[in-house]
Order: sequence, then C-alpha cells, then structure tokens
Amino acid sequence: MADAKPLYETYSRSPIVFERGHGVWLETPAGERYLDFAGGIAVTSLGHTHPHLVEALKSQADKLWHLSNLQEIPDQTRLAERLTEATFADKVFFTNSGAEALECAIKTARRHFYVNGQPQRYRIITIEGAFHGRTLATIAAGGQAKYLEGFGPKVEGFDQVPFGDHEAIKAAINDETAAILVEPVQGEGGIRPLPKECLRGLRDLCDEHGILLILDEVQSGVGRTGMLFAHEWAGITPDIMAVAKGIGGGFPFGACLATAEAADGMTLGTHGTTYGGNPLAMAVGNAVLDVVLEDSFLTHVNDVTLVLRQGLASLKDRYPDLIEDIRGIGLLTGIKCAKSNADLVTAMRNEHLLAVPAGDNVVRLLPPLIVSVEEVREALHRIEAALEMLSPKSS
Ligand SMILES: *Cc1c(COP(=O)(O)O)cnc(C)c1O
Repeated sequence: MADAKPLYETYSRSPIVFERGHGVWLETPAGERYLDFAGGIAVTSLGHTHPHLVEALKSQADKLWHLSNLQEIPDQTRLAERLTEATFADKVFFTNSGAEALECAIKTARRHFYVNGQPQRYRIITIEGAFHGRTLATIAAGGQAKYLEGFGPKVEGFDQVPFGDHEAIKAAINDETAAILVEPVQGEGGIRPLPKECLRGLRDLCDEHGILLILDEVQSGVGRTGMLFAHEWAGITPDIMAVAKGIGGGFPFGACLATAEAADGMTLGTHGTTYGGNPLAMAVGNAVLDVVLEDSFLTHVNDVTLVLRQGLASLKDRYPDLIEDIRGIGLLTGIKCAKSNADLVTAMRNEHLLAVPAGDNVVRLLPPLIVSVEEVREALHRIEAALEMLSPKSS
C-alpha cells in the first residue's frame, strides 16, 4: 500500500464537506451554512432538493428505475416532444452527460453529410478557449493543450480559429467542412459571450456554405441566461444543439437536439446508449421543464440578474485594482479579476459563498435560477467582504 488514496487524484477539492442542501444553501454536518453560487457548475438550476423534483424522483423510484432503449419509454417521448415544442429542434437524443451530447452532435453532423453524398465533409471548426467535455473527441474539439497532453493522437477533424475572428472562420471553411461548433457563451473559457452579431454572422456563413451550425449550450442553456437557450438572444437558431447540466437539475443527463434535416443520417442502429433517457432521468427532466417553462420563470431570472449586475458594477467601481470587468449573460456571470481568481474564490469561500474559477482569470457566479433578490444581495455583501479582505487598503 504505497498510496492509500483510493480516488484518481484528478481534482483539486475544497476542504469543506456538505451534508445537505436546500434551495441556494448548503449545510455542513456541523450546521454551517454556505450560499451556493457555484450550483455544482451550473447544474442545480432549481436549487438543492427542490420539492417538485424530489417528488418526481421519489415517485418514479417507487415505480420503475431503468429500462433499456429497446423498450418504449413514454416519459422520454414526452420530454422530447416538450423540448422540440419549445425549441428549433424536431429530434432529440438523450445522453448521460454534456460530453456525450457533444459526441452525438458531432456524429449527427458527420452522418448528415455522409448520407447526403458528401462523406468528405467531416471537419468541424471550433473556437480557441472552447470547452466541450473530456472525451477523446471533445478534448480534440476544445483544442486545449492542457487537456490533450499525454492522451495519444488527437482525434482528427477539428480546425480551431481564434475567438472573435470572423474572417479566420470564413478562411477556415473548405470543402471538407461539415459544421461550425461554438458555445454562445464560453463558460469554462471565462464567461466570454459571443456577440449577437457574431452568432448571426455564423448563421449566415453556415447557410451560405451549406454547412451546419452546432451550438454547445451545455452550460448556457435551460434558462441560465434569461432565455430558455442563449442563442435566442441573437434571434437565430442552430441546426444541432448539445444540452446538459441545468436540464437535469442535478440528475445526470444531457440531450442532443437537431432539426429533422440535420439528423437525417441518424438512422436505425447508428447510435445508442444504455442509460441515456432512462425513466428516472426522464421523470426528473420533465419535472425540471415543468418549472422552467412556467410563465414567470425567465422573468425572475432576468429580474435577479439585474440586481446582481448592478451590485457587481458598483463593486467593480470601488475595487478597480481587484476587478477588471464583469461579464456574461443572465446568471452566467463572470468576474474578470485583476489579481488571482483563485484567491478571490478562496476569500469568498471564507465568507461562506461558493463560486467557481474559470479560464482567463475569471470567477464564475452560477447560482440556482430560483435565487431570490434577498439572496443575491446577501451574496453581494459576501463578495464585498471578500474583496475587502483582499484589498491592499486593508492589509
Ligand atoms: C460542462 C460542459 C461540457 C461537458 O459536460 P460534461 O457533463 O462534464 O461531460 C461541455 N460543454 C460545455 C459548454 C460545458 O460547460
């Protein structure tokens, strides 16, 4: 027993252990309460132990947990109907995670051209700073050296261009290009929104060249930005979209959505999953949609966003040597730090407020979408206290 640690040491974990959660709050075994603006990385969209989700999960647990996709799963069909009703999509494939939703999106794009007599079109253009998951194909799509190193030959077929360089994207399209894949708001990369004009420009470019637009809305989707999906802010629709995180509210599942035309190659036997779309996941997924599709839900997200943004803007004015910029859309908010983002996350944690570091020296604030105005104000007080601790004035 040279090494007694049983887990792969791939994560740097916070020392705090939580035992229970309710709404926007987490509690340690000793009863210490933390305000959760990490949201399990944009996953707990409806907060912890939301009564409607608990009820859906428990009642499904008493009936039936799992069926393979060799059976009809009525709740899977129902959730797909509701998702297609609410979006651009005609077709849905359910997965267990975000990376698998992206894998399905990539396969869907390649198969589309394969069955339409252009098998040479398989390449996908992606953007520097992107994050699409940790499978072999999605680390190739993300193109980040730190995630690719040591994992053998990079999966072929991804061409990366700089962020915000429309001309570079144009120049990268050739007769092997199948699609352009982007996050409407780069999450992991540092909460960098793609400007609306840019998204519209990409849509036009795809139409012009007869290629597909794939959006990765794993982090930005399901109400997080104040629209059901972030691309709605730009008034465009993709051909294919990957979704996960918030769609399960904490139950692990994802989905790939597509137009009927884009999905025309995904015929019998071309793709599959054992767990994807099983009854437990679908019970929770339908319950999440019940809440997110309520009339006032997105209004609430936009209302609390306003309070958060105003508070952060004022903190930026008061601590210019610590905060360089505030960015993002809705409750996908980033504080671009002038000093170390890790130090700010730690200082916030000392004030019992959880947040997530991101690339580009950013601290991400990803609270449950049900966060109240009072809770946002409480978080702002705690951020202020953390900034004060880090401020040169106070040392
Ligand atoms: C988290 C994330 C993924 C990967 O999702 P997993 O469930 O971790 O596989 C992909 N794309 C984006 C934009 C993400 O934020």
